[in-house]
Amino acid sequence: MRIPCPYCGDRDSQEFVYRGDASLQRPDGEDGFFDYVYLRDNPAGPIAEHWYHAQGCRSWIVVTRDTRTHAIHGAVLAAEAAR
Ligand SMILES: [Zn+2]
Repeated sequence: MRIPCPYCGDRDSQEFVYRGDASLQRPDGEDGFFDYVYLRDNPAGPIAEHWYHAQGCRSWIVVTRDTRTHAIHGAVLAAEAAR
């Protein structure tokens, strides 16, 4: 699988570390914290994921990947995605 890093271009996925779902929002209080830490959905289709380019520019990026086909539909820097 090739991941399009915004700085480095298309790179092999082995250069990256997978962190997980980028759509999760940390709750302000204790309510919902267990769900935030331990419970995950298993969606079929495009999802946003955090990846870290550990063997490249060391940037956190948000990759949109289809879980059914592993096709990647784009990637942006995580700092830009958070705006
Ligand atoms: Zn990179």
